[in-house]
Amino acid sequence: MSPIRSIGMVGSDIPSPTPAVRRRRPAAGAGATGQGTPHNEHPAGKLPPMRITWKDGSTSGPMGTPIARPLSQGPAESRIQAAEAARHLTRIDEILRERWNRAGWDDKGGAMTVIVNQRAMGGNAYFASLTDGTGEMGIGVRDARIGFQQSPAYSPSILFHELVHGIVGTELQGLPAKVQPYLNQREHNAINESIADVLSTGLLNTNWRNGQEIRDGSPLRDLTNPSVPKWNGSVRRDTGLEEHTLAGVVSRAAVVAAESAGTLPVVDAWYAGIDSHYRTELLSVEKPGAGRALGAWVRATMRGAEQVGGKGSDLVDAMRDGWEAVGLGRYASKAQLDATAPPAGAGTKPKRRPKS
Ligand SMILES: [Zn+2]
Repeated sequence: MSPIRSIGMVGSDIPSPTPAVRRRRPAAGAGATGQGTPHNEHPAGKLPPMRITWKDGSTSGPMGTPIARPLSQGPAESRIQAAEAARHLTRIDEILRERWNRAGWDDKGGAMTVIVNQRAMGGNAYFASLTDGTGEMGIGVRDARIGFQQSPAYSPSILFHELVHGIVGTELQGLPAKVQPYLNQREHNAINESIADVLSTGLLNTNWRNGQEIRDGSPLRDLTNPSVPKWNGSVRRDTGLEEHTLAGVVSRAAVVAAESAGTLPVVDAWYAGIDSHYRTELLSVEKPGAGRALGAWVRATMRGAEQVGGKGSDLVDAMRDGWEAVGLGRYASKAQLDATAPPAGAGTKPKRRPKS
């Protein structure tokens, strides 16, 4: 199977999300506490459209920094890559809007500059939020060292992964200084990578794999088969394990939960986790036994599962099973959730949605 897609195949290589798996009824007496697919509020009405400014980054200065220039001034291959990435990013943007009523990575329209054909960084890609409130996505080139036969511009799963980093950054904006040390730890970076992997592969329905579109069908990461499957003391002490490796532990909890609860409900719960709960949980990590960033994220997904499936629902049980399977069940226990429960009314972040 060639990873090279015909430019004429508009959007056909990006599968639409499968119809939501019908959620089982919550257990008797569970009540109807905010159940359902997360739906971002936009009181102003219509969601602002996505705007992308395209640039060429094929030449670079010292330190490999791209010299971004208008696409028209770059080589023809940059325009071909931009056309390919545009098709995928448009579909990804539609998926976010259809699923969660989210207007792009920042929920304000998702304006960004995309710099394609960044030769100096090989097969890498990145997303950066800029101080002026816009985002920048950088996309590299084909890279034999990691098996990329095409630029990541041809990989919807990699582009979606990068865009989700923008979502995570948006939802954690402006946290107080006391929380910053937790955000600088490897565990938080692993959580960030895992959220990016789980939301992107789940919504694209790629069987939890990414990068396969440009690697002859072979995934760059396979969340069902992580190299480190479980968190324990020696994993915690092994400073040689970097964040993408540790992310595999975190993501496996979602994979295990989805085996019984279905992919989309779990992905919804994880989205609710980052959209509404992780921030609140990070603010309460000083409570004894709260477990820093990892504990905060486990609880955020559990509260996300309660939001989506209802308290005491099968989805909540499935999520707890997932965390137990990867050695982090202590943060998902009922006792832990009760002990760290945010004050009434603080469970969901007040949405600040400027009209712009
Ligand atoms: Zn990443």
